[in-house]
Amino acid sequence: MTSNKQEEAKKCLQCEKVLTGRPDKKFCNDYCRNTYNYNHRRKDEVIVRQINSILRKNRQILSELEPEKKKVNIHRQRLIEMGFRFNYFTNIYKTKSGKIYHFCYDYGYIEVSTDYVVVVVREKYVR
Ligand SMILES: [Zn+2]
Repeated sequence: MTSNKQEEAKKCLQCEKVLTGRPDKKFCNDYCRNTYNYNHRRKDEVIVRQINSILRKNRQILSELEPEKKKVNIHRQRLIEMGFRFNYFTNIYKTKSGKIYHFCYDYGYIEVSTDYVVVVVREKYVR
């Protein structure tokens, strides 16, 4: 297979200058490499931090609603109004009888009807 070298000219991922030299080069120098890696790591960290704070808030809300181990039905809307986001959870636990719990860390809930959930806490959580 032949190809036009001109079209293949690779550019520095950071400053977009055309690169010369080794074909596997991605940056023109260490400065560009470091800047690029720094910025990308920061972007990753921001995303992780945002998701963590949603999960932490979810856990906080569930922990406030878990009233001394008594199983109490809570309307989904009430959770939403408190800022709970149902799309975010750390894991799903399915019992042998097929009941599904959604957990945010050690706190979770189970849907008991279309509108209501029961909040639970899992004492021995990490196995
Ligand atoms: Zn560069």
